[in-house]
Amino acid sequence: MSVTFDTAIQFVKGVGPRRAKMFSEAGIQTAEDLLKYAPFRYEDRTNFKQIRDLKQDQEVVIQARVAATGSYTTARKKMKIFEMVVEDDTSTLQVKFFNQPYLEQVFHKGQTVILFGVPKIDVYASGISMVSPEVEIIGSDSDLRIHTGRITPVYRKIGQITTRTLRQIIFQLLTDLPDQVEDPLPDSVVTKYKFPDRRSAFQEIHFPGLQEGKSRAPLLRELESRGTVSYQRFIFEEFFLFQLGLQITKQRRQILPKERVICIDKDIRNAIKSILPFHPTAAQKRVLKEIVDDLRSSRVMNRLLQGDVGSGKTIVALQAMIVVVENGYQTVLMAPTEILAEQHFKNLEKYLVNTHYKLALLTSRVKGKDRRSILSQIDKGRVHMLVGTHALIQKGVDFENLGLIVIDEQHRFGVVQRSQLMEKGDRPETLVMTATPIPRSLAMTLYGDLDLSVLDELPPGRHPTKTVVKTEKSRREVYQILRRELEKGRQAFIVYPLIEESEKLDLRAAKEMAEHLQHDIFEEYKVGLLHGRLKSDEKESLMLRFKKGEIHILVSTTVIEVGIDVPNATLVLIEHAERFGLSQLHQLRGRIGRGHYPGLCILLTEGVHSPEAYKRLRTMSQTSDGFKIAEKDLEIRGPGEFVGTRQSGVPEFLFGNIVRDRQSLEMARREAEEYLSCCLDSARESSVEVLSNLAKWWKDKYGFYDVG
Ligand code: ADP
Ligand code: MG
Repeated sequence: MSVTFDTAIQFVKGVGPRRAKMFSEAGIQTAEDLLKYAPFRYEDRTNFKQIRDLKQDQEVVIQARVAATGSYTTARKKMKIFEMVVEDDTSTLQVKFFNQPYLEQVFHKGQTVILFGVPKIDVYASGISMVSPEVEIIGSDSDLRIHTGRITPVYRKIGQITTRTLRQIIFQLLTDLPDQVEDPLPDSVVTKYKFPDRRSAFQEIHFPGLQEGKSRAPLLRELESRGTVSYQRFIFEEFFLFQLGLQITKQRRQILPKERVICIDKDIRNAIKSILPFHPTAAQKRVLKEIVDDLRSSRVMNRLLQGDVGSGKTIVALQAMIVVVENGYQTVLMAPTEILAEQHFKNLEKYLVNTHYKLALLTSRVKGKDRRSILSQIDKGRVHMLVGTHALIQKGVDFENLGLIVIDEQHRFGVVQRSQLMEKGDRPETLVMTATPIPRSLAMTLYGDLDLSVLDELPPGRHPTKTVVKTEKSRREVYQILRRELEKGRQAFIVYPLIEESEKLDLRAAKEMAEHLQHDIFEEYKVGLLHGRLKSDEKESLMLRFKKGEIHILVSTTVIEVGIDVPNATLVLIEHAERFGLSQLHQLRGRIGRGHYPGLCILLTEGVHSPEAYKRLRTMSQTSDGFKIAEKDLEIRGPGEFVGTRQSGVPEFLFGNIVRDRQSLEMARREAEEYLSCCLDSARESSVEVLSNLAKWWKDKYGFYDVG
């Protein structure tokens, strides 16, 4: 049987059950998955040199024989060194490896090897040697053809499978593929953009051919920046399929009428007005109308509400929930953390104090009898509004008639979690809320299945937070500013960065700082320390004491990032501000200036940082507009960096980078729209049928993004 894209990885030549397991752990299940495993870099192995001609510091490839091997341990540092001498017809060369004693078993006298590396002057030996070059042992002539004499792909190891083995398997697989292969892109699109066919495109990303007269350096650069036509093809393909999935979902939603009927009359209008402790802003009114129009329409709502921190999203969501509850349906509000869920619960409780709505909280902390009782209340339809965390999407949480789901800080959830929550009801109305600064244009493309509302106005009486950058030299002055705020009766946050790799270290720094401040600087005030290692009830009691004003300075790692609301806090001091990303800084700054007092954000840095960090800090001190910051963030991050999935709720692409390949993403969106409308126009069946067939095809074959 010949191999196709769908061939299970185990049956690809050179794989077998043991390697199949490693592949599968890396998410590679089929031949096609393997072909999509692109090299992470390339080496120019066309430039063979003879040992005699080696020059210091010049990257080269040489082919040589192993003449001798040996190991020893250095006297002072007790380092294990494996050494070999290789020779070609012109001379010999010493090659060293540190702390890899197993190499003794790998290399033997008489082997032919390819070395790729940079020769250096060796102070211990006289002359030139190579330290830790890339080495490959050459077995046969075909090895030579695959691994050298070309621009050679270098892969990240998968389990125990080395780059060399990967290269061999992929080379063989490409040879075995039939000439004609299927292509998910419509012919018209392939022709229009002059894309190479899929088979040659795969060939070119793994084993790029050298064109006569074209020099290799630009080609290497193009490959590594994913700029070649073959890469562009896969980037486009990936975006196109993603967009198509979104469009299908959106069109189906628009076409399939909903059974739920939601009306709004005078009583309901009064109900939603009566809970307001303040006058809504014009933006809040507008957005509520957009939402209510959706709810009343014959289509299921699927709306993204973007609004800067503090713009007042919660109350708008609550009003929407009331409308739905008044129509006899249940509603949920899901938040990313327990603190936030509990805060929402308490706020809602306050707003709803004189109403008959039944509110409940479900987090993983609700256990035993309480949990069982809440679950049964939900199941029987007795809970009107359920607030909670991820705990909401677990098994056992069943609703009688879920009509609306609201997801707060949606960038903290994956797209999958969104659809899991949606599955708790029969196509429930969905409102997702975010303060993530994703620029509007990008949001339209990435959340193409959602309609967009924007809260672009802050409630009145807010004083914009002033932001200043200070260096370590001014630490005393900064403490004086802090003291003045405390003397006025205000409170402050001091934030420490917490970076995963050095979590312990950073935590220690935060702890020491809290102690230092308490004992040496602010003795007459109470300093608290909030960090991710605390149990959630410890966190909560700390937050509560801070809210009540019993703690004056809250030293914290970034766990306060999301949604905490303490109107009396007016100062946030961010330590090592250069280590934070723009969006994070913006979120942190949003923790203050939420009450009637002007806020101050102090960005403290060590003074020495990268130009990017400098731009970030400057942007922060110049603007407080979340969307402007988002644009800037994108610009500064530049094409090199991904907007990570976990950060933004954006699906992760294999080839594409939404920042670097923005144009391709936009093109793909247009083409997907056009393609879909062509399908609908030319089909004989009804649009509903076409769309559900398309949806099924899409989900079976490409549903890896799971847009729900
Ligand atoms: P976010 O959009 O960041 O989630 P919240 O919904 O938490 O913002 O609102 C921030 C604060 O502003 C809350 O304390 C809320 O009570 C208050 N607020 C919201 N809308 C208004 C308004 N129209 N007038 C006055 N205060 C408001
Ligand atoms: Mg909020």
